[in-house]
Amino acid sequence: MEADIVVPVPDSGLAPALGYAEESGIPLDMGLVRNHYVGRTFIEPQQSIRHFGVKIKLNAVPGLLAGKRVVVIDDSIVRGTTSRKIVSMIREAGAREVHMRITSAPINFPCFYGIDTPNRGELIASSHTLEEIRRYLKADSLAYLSIGAMEEEVRCSQTFLEGESRTPGHYCKACFDGNYPIPFTQEERVQHGLFDRQGPSAPSPGETPEGRFDDPLLRSR
Ligand code: SF4
Repeated sequence: MEADIVVPVPDSGLAPALGYAEESGIPLDMGLVRNHYVGRTFIEPQQSIRHFGVKIKLNAVPGLLAGKRVVVIDDSIVRGTTSRKIVSMIREAGAREVHMRITSAPINFPCFYGIDTPNRGELIASSHTLEEIRRYLKADSLAYLSIGAMEEEVRCSQTFLEGESRTPGHYCKACFDGNYPIPFTQEERVQHGLFDRQGPSAPSPGETPEGRFDDPLLRSR
């Protein structure tokens, strides 16, 4: 499988898209442009408002996307609403194929430490397989980073920036694996909907046995 263009979802997808383009040899271009005067969409409570938010926040560039096989890079999928709209916008701009790549592991659990994520029932990865999410997004393919790959990338970045790396256990990964570093009481677990969490060995959707990107675009190189 091949693609013609790597497109970041601005702004958080830009740095990983640069790396993806370099690694894959597929050229990067800004096929999505962002309106900086509107806020993030996942904090909007109603689905209709979120859809509208995506539309006014991002615009697809038909001149760059028409007839292309597009790899679109984003940092995460929360409910799936935004990603679905992005795939749709890229197709409406004339793209022939849309392959979505996510630079985090699937978000399976809410954050209780300050990031405004919805409750667990609304997190699409908590109740859907990789293939179900791909179908919901209407993407031609979908891949996430595994937790192991995320840890490796953080370690590499830290070594590059600071000359040393911390152990993987240093970081919170609770929204990916449900292991909250500050423990909850049983009452809080029930209140937060955490009593049904998967065991620590349960693989996340998209995670490969090697803990690497399961990405045919990169594997075909
Ligand atoms: S890694 Fe931890 S602190 Fe960061 S968003 Fe996830 S749960 Fe919250």
